[in-house]
Amino acid sequence: MKVSDLLGNRVHRTLLQKVMNKSLEELFLEPQVQLSAEQEAQFQTMLARYASGTPIAYLLGEQAFYGRSFLVNEDVLIPRPETEGLVERALKITADRVLELCTGSGVLAVTLAIEGREVSAVDISSRALEVARQNAKKHGVHVHFMEGDLFSKVQGKYDLIIANPPYIDSKELRKLDVFSQEPTVALDGGERGMEIIARILEEAPKFLTEGGILLLEIGWDQAEEVKEKASGYECVTIERDLFGRDRYVIARYGRKNAG
Ligand code: GLN
Repeated sequence: MKVSDLLGNRVHRTLLQKVMNKSLEELFLEPQVQLSAEQEAQFQTMLARYASGTPIAYLLGEQAFYGRSFLVNEDVLIPRPETEGLVERALKITADRVLELCTGSGVLAVTLAIEGREVSAVDISSRALEVARQNAKKHGVHVHFMEGDLFSKVQGKYDLIIANPPYIDSKELRKLDVFSQEPTVALDGGERGMEIIARILEEAPKFLTEGGILLLEIGWDQAEEVKEKASGYECVTIERDLFGRDRYVIARYGRKNAG
């Protein structure tokens, strides 16, 4: 099998780049190159895994996020384009100390650390944290990682708390392709997908500085319930993602009776 046999198909091209460790430009420049038996076997294995539903990002072991490449594997959710909207919003908020919950692969924590924030990040999954640590190392930044259930290990106060928590309804999730492809712990938000979000809304004020912001990614149909549950915040704004769906919660915490 030679390179030119595989250039006509998008998935083939992508896997070929990985197997040959070459850019697409390089592959197009030498279409007559033969794959070694080992490369061909590796290609066929990846193609079979792709055909049986493994996402490309897991096969490649990486995913682009906010213009940078991050390591991913089956222990973490593959970062979605919508989540880049959380970064954009986080960077507009003046905050020195940032806490991320449900960090997963660490893409948010690491991106914010690269942008100069002091970041602590929590996940309940030790395996996810391993990936997140590797991503911090890959990008040469320090993030204070903690293994724990939401705020259980968190101390002190933060100017910004950010999270893309699991928010898919448990029953709905089981009907989706993503259920067999990505970690359930990263997706399953319990009843109506609201269980983790509700806990974060309730507990975050204890860990926010006066005027601090809670910034969350939510499901497109959860805005109303989030607003009801966020009555303890001074101001709650819901913003839409690039597809026009309610996606981001910006909740400002201020002690109403302060002074
Ligand atoms: N947006 C993701 C999806 O649709 C879900 C992410 C999450 O639950 N935090 O698969």
